[in-house]
Amino acid sequence: MDSTEFRKRGMEMVEYICNYLETLSERRVTPSVEPGYLRHLLPTEAPQEPEDWDQIMSDVEDKIMPGVTHWQHPRFHAYFPAGNSFPSILGDMLGDGIGCIGFSWAASPACTELETIVLDWLGKAIGLPDHFLALKEGSTGGGVIQTSASECVLVTMLAARAQALKRLKSQHPFVEEGHLLSKLMAYCSKEAHSCVEKAAMICFVKLRILEPDEDASLRGQTIYEAMEEDELQGLVPFFVSTTLGTTGSCAFDNLPEIGKQLQRFPGVWLHVDAAYAGNSFICPELKPLLKGIEYADSFNTNPNKWLLTNFDCSTLWVRDRIRLTSALVVDPLYLKHGYSDAAIDYRHWGVPLSRRFRSLKLWFVLRSYGISGLQHYIRHHIKLAKRFEELVLKDKRFEICNQVKLGLVCFRLKGSDKLNEKLLSIINESGKLHMVPASVGDRYIIRFCAVAQNATAEDIDYAWDIIVDFANELLEKEQHDELSEIMNRKKQDTLAQKRSFFVRMVSDPKLYNPAINKAGTPKLSMELPSPVVSRGSAPIIRTQSSVDHNSWISWPLAFLFNSNNEEKGSNVSLRFRHLDTNVRPTSSRRNSGAGSSPSPENELDYVNVQQQQLEQRSPRRSPMVVRKASGGRDNLN
Ligand code: PLP
Repeated sequence: MDSTEFRKRGMEMVEYICNYLETLSERRVTPSVEPGYLRHLLPTEAPQEPEDWDQIMSDVEDKIMPGVTHWQHPRFHAYFPAGNSFPSILGDMLGDGIGCIGFSWAASPACTELETIVLDWLGKAIGLPDHFLALKEGSTGGGVIQTSASECVLVTMLAARAQALKRLKSQHPFVEEGHLLSKLMAYCSKEAHSCVEKAAMICFVKLRILEPDEDASLRGQTIYEAMEEDELQGLVPFFVSTTLGTTGSCAFDNLPEIGKQLQRFPGVWLHVDAAYAGNSFICPELKPLLKGIEYADSFNTNPNKWLLTNFDCSTLWVRDRIRLTSALVVDPLYLKHGYSDAAIDYRHWGVPLSRRFRSLKLWFVLRSYGISGLQHYIRHHIKLAKRFEELVLKDKRFEICNQVKLGLVCFRLKGSDKLNEKLLSIINESGKLHMVPASVGDRYIIRFCAVAQNATAEDIDYAWDIIVDFANELLEKEQHDELSEIMNRKKQDTLAQKRSFFVRMVSDPKLYNPAINKAGTPKLSMELPSPVVSRGSAPIIRTQSSVDHNSWISWPLAFLFNSNNEEKGSNVSLRFRHLDTNVRPTSSRRNSGAGSSPSPENELDYVNVQQQQLEQRSPRRSPMVVRKASGGRDNLN
């Protein structure tokens, strides 16, 4: 394709995109295809010879589009929005045209400098404290664009881990790093996104998943007590991930309380994940939701969710950029340049070396809409959500299950989880509307999110009409057709399985990873006075604390040990020996069917040693004992 043809095809593509977006409402929201549908439509090999562009585009319409879920559809109400706007698309187009790889300032100065400036703009608009802004006099912080919120959580956890290990190593120079690592504990709420657990797996640290209050908000006292208990076990709290705007129900952890409590644990990194909700803080009336941010070490939000910017654009700010980059710096000669000391090199701020010119699209969006235009957009979505909430409240057969603060409404039919599962299933199956479920307070709820950029009040009313129609049909059927329902159950189950293709639960630890909720999960309990390891079923770490939290611990790579395959299990356990966390699920545990996260055996032995020490010493904080390479013992506290 030469530039003459590109001009022609480019214009056609713009036309195609405009038509697509303008006529979206005529399509089904979700595709009606089975897994593998595309394999049957495309050749098994790449073409040997060049193909005609018209033919390629005709395949887009005939073969690709039938398998697309239309996230920009006015009747798409699942997940959080996928940001999209014409200025943003043009920004990506220009970035692709320039095609630079901005891993260092020298690799493309504008790419780096625009990112720094735009992140300061957005940080100020959100209301972040000055220490998060790179260009503020005396600031040690700054912002960076990452691919996703998951990556933001990962890199901050990596940075926190490096800080904690550095600190422990300076106190205990002869203890092997792997052993120090096995003492680190991260924390989050049960309502936190699954990416926190994934980050903990990658960082090879334990994660304690805590129960929030009845409003799905993690409280300061809960985290304080959990950290106290863990310190008694000789563990080292090092990272807390809080959420402002949880995925399930858009709940807010109590950041001021948590921040205050963390003052008692110096060195613990406090991260704030506001992937969706953070964008809304550009509205002055929503800034109170950001209360407590002064305690945070890092904050992320995704303009590619709720700020009209296309994926990928997840913005992360840190209080201290050196603490972030020191965990990620590798500096080969070929990447050094004359301004290394004077300029930002974003390759040190994340995992990949190569980086796209992503700030262009955010810059285009901020300039094209202005902060006032973006505030209007956010407020419009909130108004739509409030309208939907009112409609639900008017129908006494339904109930609202969250505090509707932003664009997400969680609701359900009064009745069983099964009834709500059925309702959602038949709605999604129809292709007329798309929503997803979540589990809030252990109840199955349906999420309805205002998503489309230009959605109207009529769109909301229309969506509600569809929901009511299906609910009427379902309730009628439930009342009058119970018998045939039973007879058809088997068939329905198979159908429901197929439909679940469209019904993916949003993050809930016990749903995406049942292992962490089962009996085998190491759990703190105080039923017995001394530490007991129950090998028959659940390994339980007993503590002397008076508080019994309902919490789970996600052990690094626990999923590998849930296999029923004896061979596999024992092979993997070998891999852990160099880290002195010899995880080996006993056959009795496997036979118990717990399928749960295993407990490192020596961890439990370690707890026994700990407990003995605790019994000998009265101080509240027990000494931390680890085995040195020589087999001796070193007191870590
Ligand atoms: N954190 C929260 C609160 C989320 O809602 C989500 C996704 O919806 C994520 C993290 C993960 O986002 P990403 O897909 O950018 O990794």
